[in-house]
Amino acid sequence: MKCPKCNMENKDGAKLCKKCGTELNIPPVLWKPSWKWHVRALVIIYTCLIIAFFLMNHLLKPYLRQIPNDVTPWLKDLPKEESVG
Ligand SMILES: [Zn+2]
Repeated sequence: MKCPKCNMENKDGAKLCKKCGTELNIPPVLWKPSWKWHVRALVIIYTCLIIAFFLMNHLLKPYLRQIPNDVTPWLKDLPKEESVG
């Protein structure tokens, strides 16, 4: 493995760099995503959800028509520009 400080090649499992003495078995620094990464991840997740929603909506459209009106009474009241009264 290479020393992160001086790039000196050391034996695998060596605790210290033989050249500069830097510790080689330092645990990897925990990855801390920035707020930009969070925003991007959320945008990707929501985009996938929205795409999945419209896809399911599109795919299930013929099946949704078979649901009786008693189960979905709000579907009867779809705006049809009807003059009430
Ligand atoms: Zn070194």
